[in-house]
Amino acid sequence: MLGWSAAELIGKPMALLLYKTEDGSTAPASDPFCLSSALRDGAIHRIQNDTFVKKGGAVFPVQYVTSPIREADRTVGVVVIFQDITARKQQESLQQAQLSVSHILAQAGTVEEAIPSLLRIAGEMGPWSMTLLWHSGPMGDRLTCLGSWVRPSHEWDEFLTVCRNSEFPPGMDFPGIAWATKLPLWIPDVLTDTRFTRAPTASRLGIRAACIVPIRTGNVIHGVLEWYTDTPRAADNHLIHILADTGMKIGQFIDRARAGQALRATHHMTQSLLASLPGAILLCGWDLHIQYANTLAQQYFSLSGESLIGRPLSECLALSQSDLQHVAMEWTALPADSTHRLSERECEVTNRLYRYRFFPVATPESSQYQMGIVLWDITEDKRLQDQLIQSEKLSSLGTMVSGMAHEINNPAQAILSMAELIQEEDDPGMVKEFAADIVGYARHVSNVVRDFAGYARSAGRDGETEIDMAERLMEAVKMVRRGPHFGQVEVVTRFESSAFVRARKGEIDQVLVNLISNATQAMEGVGSLTLGTAQDGAWIDVTIADTGPGIPDSIRPRIFDPFFTTKPSEKGTGLGLSIVHKIVTKYAGIITVDSTAGHGTTFRLRFPALSQ
Ligand code: ADP
Repeated sequence: MLGWSAAELIGKPMALLLYKTEDGSTAPASDPFCLSSALRDGAIHRIQNDTFVKKGGAVFPVQYVTSPIREADRTVGVVVIFQDITARKQQESLQQAQLSVSHILAQAGTVEEAIPSLLRIAGEMGPWSMTLLWHSGPMGDRLTCLGSWVRPSHEWDEFLTVCRNSEFPPGMDFPGIAWATKLPLWIPDVLTDTRFTRAPTASRLGIRAACIVPIRTGNVIHGVLEWYTDTPRAADNHLIHILADTGMKIGQFIDRARAGQALRATHHMTQSLLASLPGAILLCGWDLHIQYANTLAQQYFSLSGESLIGRPLSECLALSQSDLQHVAMEWTALPADSTHRLSERECEVTNRLYRYRFFPVATPESSQYQMGIVLWDITEDKRLQDQLIQSEKLSSLGTMVSGMAHEINNPAQAILSMAELIQEEDDPGMVKEFAADIVGYARHVSNVVRDFAGYARSAGRDGETEIDMAERLMEAVKMVRRGPHFGQVEVVTRFESSAFVRARKGEIDQVLVNLISNATQAMEGVGSLTLGTAQDGAWIDVTIADTGPGIPDSIRPRIFDPFFTTKPSEKGTGLGLSIVHKIVTKYAGIITVDSTAGHGTTFRLRFPALSQ
């Protein structure tokens, strides 16, 4: 073990075996071989880790036991039994390197981040002077060199440049072979291997042995690791096993990192999708407290910028007790089928109007649904809608103005004639009679003006009240009668029960006037107009039926479209029914039309009845 023969050693000082450090002192300096200690205390001493020097100066790691030789009660010498622990040391450093690899992989977020230190540590596993990482590029059809580590004492840049400019398809050169076979490869001397395409440069630099392992998880190869050293070496199965294991660990890490990246990308996408949605999104648990709010929700409902998370939904949306009851009712009635659509409602928060709808959110951690709420700011839409309703009303008023002129002109003429008669009349009784007629005509004029003014008033200004639908139908007939198309139409009423709806009067009037004037226009002054009200459970039904020509099947699907009209421009704008539809659905109502060509048309409105 020491290189000396026994004869050569006898008589030599033991310090001969001591390793000299760079400054010339011996190690361990304090008590070589534990000699002094053993002589002094007569006990056995064990040293786990020391270095001895061979003949010729080479050093090797040892562990030894120093045992005292006792004579009577004296220690007269020691026996030093030592063991070469080179193999154990190598083993330990390999294990250490393996641990470091695991450590680096556990700390790194991405493969790119881990590569430099990984290659260095992998390089230090055993006798290597260079490590290369080959990666199967974006197309997965060839290997390219992604990273490298070279021991600082070795000037192998030329070989590195060759590697960096090389690409290997499966089966070509050592990396290609390890890739194709999915197995590790040990080359005792690369210069004698004909498969080595980089041999000319390697031979110039003195590159000799190599080990190549695939980076894999299961059957999938992500790349290849390659190690080189400057002396030929026989295959070392133990080392191959450790290097192959390192390749496997890196493979698993790549898999994990990719899955993590995909997860982060999905999370990021979901977040930015939710943030950029044109609607505000809130998520609530069953306790109706907010658990998530997207950017827009935060913008809408947190004016001071503090987080909405944890706040009660009712406070955030300014929901009344009855709104909350409604939410609870809908929510508990929610069927297992999560595609069920919950109804839309409106709420007003700090002078802005929002339409909102609940939707169930199934989460994997919970058996119960979470409650999602999507909200749209409809303040502007509402204003435009009010404007549209108003302008349509003005245009329908326009057509009634000729009727109104007639209505005012006749009594005005009569008033004039009466006044002239009074001027020439001496009989006080007659004068009184004429005056009474004048009062009657004047009152009529005033009523006409009041009706028109009332109808023309903006729908946006009056509040919601309880409305008697039968009364509004009659008022609407009165309005339309003053228009130019009413003619001799006979009005039949079938008011079966009192029918009250909660709405803005102006809007309901507009619905009824539009439907009745369409009906009378369709009948061209001849026919009968049947108006009906009835209650059907929780619904109020209102019907407006005419005996006109009916609506042909070909146009029926389009009659509620804005600007769809079959009338000349002085008679119709095409907005009437679209506005009717808007107003009816606004009050959670339903409008249907029943019409057969030649047999008239019936429009049926259903509104939720007032709850008792
Ligand atoms: P407009 O009356 O200005 O044309 P509307 O939206 O009120 O606009 O009506 C759209 C179209 O629907 C009408 O042009 C007409 O063709 C048809 N329509 C509506 N009501 C009736 C009805 N009672 N009978 C026959 N056709 C009708």
